Amino acid sequence: RDPSVKKPAWLRQRAPQGEKLAKLKESITTLKLNTVCEEAQCPNIGECWNGGGGAGGEGDGIATATIMLLGDTCTRGCRFCAVATSRNPAPADPMEPENTAKAIASWGVGYVVLTSVDRDDMPDGGSDHFARTVKALKTLKPDILVECLVSDFRGDLDAVHHLASSGLDVFAHNIETVKRLQRIVRDPRAGYDQSMAVLKHAKTVKGMVTKTSIMLGLGERDEEIKQTMLDLRDVGVDIFTLGQYLQPTPLHLTVKEYVTPEKFEYWKQYGESIGFRYVASGPLVRSSYRAGEFFIESMIR
Ligand code: SF4
Ligand code: SF4
Repeated sequence: RDPSVKKPAWLRQRAPQGEKLAKLKESITTLKLNTVCEEAQCPNIGECWNGGGGAGGEGDGIATATIMLLGDTCTRGCRFCAVATSRNPAPADPMEPENTAKAIASWGVGYVVLTSVDRDDMPDGGSDHFARTVKALKTLKPDILVECLVSDFRGDLDAVHHLASSGLDVFAHNIETVKRLQRIVRDPRAGYDQSMAVLKHAKTVKGMVTKTSIMLGLGERDEEIKQTMLDLRDVGVDIFTLGQYLQPTPLHLTVKEYVTPEKFEYWKQYGESIGFRYVASGPLVRSSYRAGEFFIESMIR
């Protein structure tokens, strides 16, 4: 973190608690699921796992959790991300789709986000691995809502199509930042136009809901944020989230600005005014933040 930019009070994390949360924690230990929520010590775990209602409360909403597939080592190295990198990560576990689906189906969440590191070493970028997980999960638990938060598959639109047609409810891919900052923030193999093309293609599958996310505080200007949002609407993106970038280690990009909660609220209003079905915007909002509740809300609008 740039020492001249001080972390403000609104980013202080609250200790998560709640009955649903405690039950889910117990069962993931038994089921050996790899949740991003726990691994990343996500500050929103109380709200997501309790289904909304704040960190201490039991929400009426639908509990959300994020599960990692395809291991913990990424073939890319983005400058905002603390995930370990290797050109040759361990091969994918062929039994993971079925085993993960079984574990999730026996677990008490209504909305699951399946995500992964980028697997440029796999011929289809892992698309079929995701698709098999979705199919197995929907067979075991047809009423569970499934979001896949995936890579750009190096722009391979067949891989995008294969996953988007697997029966998932939400296709999510993060564009991460505005056009000008792509090269600074993301791995050079990623890019603005490629991510737009992926989101556009996913939307061509009938009934697909698409979603993306950007981080604020990396030096982007208001006009650039607006342009990104307009471009995303042009490719039909339905759900948009904005959150504060936080520097994971001193080796990562520094925070240029801590955006105020009021400014995040401004972006929510602006996003809804240009036609997103739902915008989640706030300092601690992450792509999967209370995703289940927000998905339901976006559907009844
Ligand atoms: Fe898990 Fe995402 Fe919620 Fe964090 S924001 S607790 S990672 S579902
Ligand atoms: Fe992290 Fe994703 Fe970039 Fe890999 S591709 S380094 S997991 S942000």
